[in-house]
Amino acid sequence: MYAEVLIEYNSKTIDKSFTYLIPDNLDGVLKVGMKVVVPFGNKLINGFVTNIVSDFEGDYEVKNIIEIKDQELILNKELFAVAEYLKEETLCTKIQAIQSMLPSALKVKNQKNNYEKLITYIELNVNEKEINNYISNNGRSIKQIEILKRVLEDKRVLKKEIMSSSLNTLLEKGVLKETKEQEYRIQNTEEQENDLKLTHEQQRVVDAIDLNTNNTYLIHGVTGSGKTEVYIKLIKEVIKTGKTAILLVPEITLTAQIVDRFYKRFGNDVAIFHSALSEGEKYDEYLKILRKEIHIVVGTRSAIFTPLENLGIIILDEEHTESYKQDTNPRYHARDIAKFRTEYNNIPFILGSATPTLETMARALKGVYKYLELPKRVGESKLPNIEIVDMTEEIKQRNFIFSSLLKEKIQDRLEKQEQTILLLNRRGFSTIITCSNCGYTYKCPYCDITMTYHKSSNNLRCHYCGYTVLKSDKCPKCHDATLNYYGLGTEKLELELKNIFPLARIVRMDTDTTSRKGTHAKIINDFKEHKYDILLGTQMISKGLDFPLVTLVGVINADTTLNIPDFRSGEKTFALLSQTAGRAGRSDLEGEVILQTFNKDNYILNCVKENDYKKFYQYEMHNRHKLNYPPYYYLCSIKISSKDYDLASGEANKVKKYLESHLSDQTIILGPATASVFKINNVYNFQIIIKYKKDDKLYKSLKELDNIFALNNKVNISIDTSPMRI
Ligand code: ADP
Ligand code: ZN
Repeated sequence: MYAEVLIEYNSKTIDKSFTYLIPDNLDGVLKVGMKVVVPFGNKLINGFVTNIVSDFEGDYEVKNIIEIKDQELILNKELFAVAEYLKEETLCTKIQAIQSMLPSALKVKNQKNNYEKLITYIELNVNEKEINNYISNNGRSIKQIEILKRVLEDKRVLKKEIMSSSLNTLLEKGVLKETKEQEYRIQNTEEQENDLKLTHEQQRVVDAIDLNTNNTYLIHGVTGSGKTEVYIKLIKEVIKTGKTAILLVPEITLTAQIVDRFYKRFGNDVAIFHSALSEGEKYDEYLKILRKEIHIVVGTRSAIFTPLENLGIIILDEEHTESYKQDTNPRYHARDIAKFRTEYNNIPFILGSATPTLETMARALKGVYKYLELPKRVGESKLPNIEIVDMTEEIKQRNFIFSSLLKEKIQDRLEKQEQTILLLNRRGFSTIITCSNCGYTYKCPYCDITMTYHKSSNNLRCHYCGYTVLKSDKCPKCHDATLNYYGLGTEKLELELKNIFPLARIVRMDTDTTSRKGTHAKIINDFKEHKYDILLGTQMISKGLDFPLVTLVGVINADTTLNIPDFRSGEKTFALLSQTAGRAGRSDLEGEVILQTFNKDNYILNCVKENDYKKFYQYEMHNRHKLNYPPYYYLCSIKISSKDYDLASGEANKVKKYLESHLSDQTIILGPATASVFKINNVYNFQIIIKYKKDDKLYKSLKELDNIFALNNKVNISIDTSPMRI
């Protein structure tokens, strides 16, 4: 028998399996989906068995498969189908698709073995009589006898509890022995909680969902309307029938809270996946799935690829979140993969959000998705009152960061011992440093943008490529000492806040304060336990957090996302601000929100203020229609990049010509234009945007383009068939 093995090959143009002979010792053992070690050229590499056949008619010498690797890992039929889909949708190779679906411990490139965490126990190696003989023999140390008695009593003792030289003697003498057992790194320690009785509104939503067919549902529920409880109920129903469930959540900040809630309700039946887990932890969680020890997966984007069998439901919480889209190859959107898997399994697909994307809402209104609404918060709690503060007026009174109103409200909360959350969507200290003498501005020499000053480390960093320089006291160019700092970041906000409220306990959450493992969860827990009065941070703090004592939310600058030149900036602003506002007043204490802005008449901000999604939707749909954007048109973005400016520009023009001659006449091709950040890491980027409604020739042409450039090592092309931004 022969096996076809898919290997990782360093060229995009070769995307195929190679045939190997199955040696006798693996005959009947080897299965499709297994990972194997095979000879390739003069090396040994890993690959996946894609097929087992009885004949081989190639013109090369067939070599033997060496061995099976990672015994427990088998890619099932569904995962192969997902890989095929991923390949078609994102134009990646099949092996790339499979690679991106696996945790790094199990990827084909990984040569390291032994991810299992083993715990050593001590047990008896001889019978009780012999032990007694041994003990009654003179000259045994008290310590040895103590150890033996303990093992006699407990049968099995953790080695680390009795570590001593006496133990070593007993082991050497063969009286005791060591046994090793695998231990999962992550274990649920939460106490179990009973289910809540759903409200009528929640029950109505649950009842409307048919668990036995493939429909997509949008649960449009305001913040705090009890969506998560609905998910829990649905999953309970699903696992009652022996099936399994995936719940996708946007970011790790949110995962921590939701995972706790799931552990409390489902005990050990949950595996979790997010980027803050170590390789070993991810490996363990993956094993729990492969061994069918759990029914529920809760995780971020890549959790959509976990090999749960007998799936019964997929839920995508906060479906509007950008982090569901992968920004690197393969550029997939978790929503699309989820859709594919729910169709494959004929099961329901649930999208939940307080601020759905326009695409999703449009489909729901058309009846393509079933629309379910939770317009009110659970119980007595009400949506917070939102006020807009005009910063152009405040500046006249020299209130540059905090308006008088926001200051007053923070003070009020401090006195009442309630909590405040402040959003500023920019990290660092100040975002621009310029010399007022010569006009010099710190800019990244490799990228096309100004560098952000980080005060704690006294350096300037490029947020694109990571390039860092120490800040000097004088202008690096004219050596004048008049450096000016503009643009406010979270680091400076924290400092200002401490100046104004010296007694307040303040904590900051952004990528800089949460880079170490476990820091996210710690900040959130400490804040929940009221060890802090004020939590300030970037958009990290906007989603999902549920703190009963938070009654004030302040947005320092509501304009940051509004000013980003992107067709989704309105949608993003509405979502970010509504979500952030939703952190206030989630219990019986009433909440209040202050939005500081330089555009007080902005339509979107006023929709946020009135908490009127539908009004926002009408307005934004009108804009999208006028400008041929989704959901009226599909988008595709092509980036052409090179270190050589002329080459990049020349090739970009050729790509445009190619597309013009290959695509349908109805398709709109824009560009090439310089990409939003033109130069990153010394590479020049051009962009072409394709807008289309239906174009049968598109994917074929894109694939051809991709293949042409695969052979070009000076110019790179990257194609995104579902760009979230342009
Ligand atoms: P969402 O996911 O829509 O933001 P949650 O499910 O987190 O809403 O619910 C908001 C708050 O209301 C939570 O504190 C939750 O414990 C509580 N809650 C939700 N459903 C119920 C219910 N049926 N009975 C009592 N409390 C509930
Ligand atoms: Zn840079």
